[in-house]
Amino acid sequence: MTDLKIIKKVFAKDKSIKYILGLSDEECIEAVYIPLIGETKFCISCQVGCINKCSPCATGKDMDYIRDLCYEEIFLQVKTLAFDNNICYNNCTVLFMGMGEPFFNYSNVIKSLQLFQDIGIPPENITISTSGIIPCIVELSKLERRPKLAISLHATTNEQRNRVIPINKVYPLNDLLNAAKEYTDTSGDEIIIQYTLIERFNNTVDDLNRLVKCIENIKCELQIIPFNSFPSSNLIAPSKENVEFVISYLQSKGVKIALKQSSGNDVYAGCGQLGCKQEL
Ligand code: SF4
Repeated sequence: MTDLKIIKKVFAKDKSIKYILGLSDEECIEAVYIPLIGETKFCISCQVGCINKCSPCATGKDMDYIRDLCYEEIFLQVKTLAFDNNICYNNCTVLFMGMGEPFFNYSNVIKSLQLFQDIGIPPENITISTSGIIPCIVELSKLERRPKLAISLHATTNEQRNRVIPINKVYPLNDLLNAAKEYTDTSGDEIIIQYTLIERFNNTVDDLNRLVKCIENIKCELQIIPFNSFPSSNLIAPSKENVEFVISYLQSKGVKIALKQSSGNDVYAGCGQLGCKQEL
């Protein structure tokens, strides 16, 4: 296995680096190196493009689906970025939050876990984020050692979710919430529910009250992700005041909550920004 070809590196103000990586067939993917205090995160891709067309996501908006990555290409993103930054694998976490829906490439994603484990990154240090592919959520619960599961919710009614995550028409909200509950009950794991906060879309008190109801029986941490804008999107990022209000309102309702500030937003390396058609 040779490392992937580094086509381009884009440096963010917060020291994250967005990598454009070349594959053997000349296709390109993006991955992000995120150095933090005492920890390094790698946000990696699992497909070239994505068939899902989630609207808060530049991969979905700006790219067509081209192909799945094989398990070695998935693994080599971390190896290439780690080598380039002279990082050993202690205290590393891997996030399947880059380009592609991990559960549409389930077998390669799961196969890559063994390669990560072989270099000292156990499944528990890996998070897989899905738009809600229910059969694969069920499959994941059966693994003996599982990565963390994150589910992108972003909306609290079917009508609203259909508008931002079209796969909701196949796996509707209530079925997804039931699958999430079943997953936590069966596995005993806590999951992450991700909620991208979008101005004039899902940030009113009514939205938040429905959100509390949606997740009240699920063993989870709620991650609030302020929308990261990109040129082809007409969605609006929430104000700082609104984000603060949302956090304190949900905390007052007893929700276990974390604010996810994306890394590398200034170079379109943040959550939902990979794959955007913007020359840097
Ligand atoms: S959010 Fe994930 S599943 Fe949705 S379009 Fe983007 S890469 Fe695909």
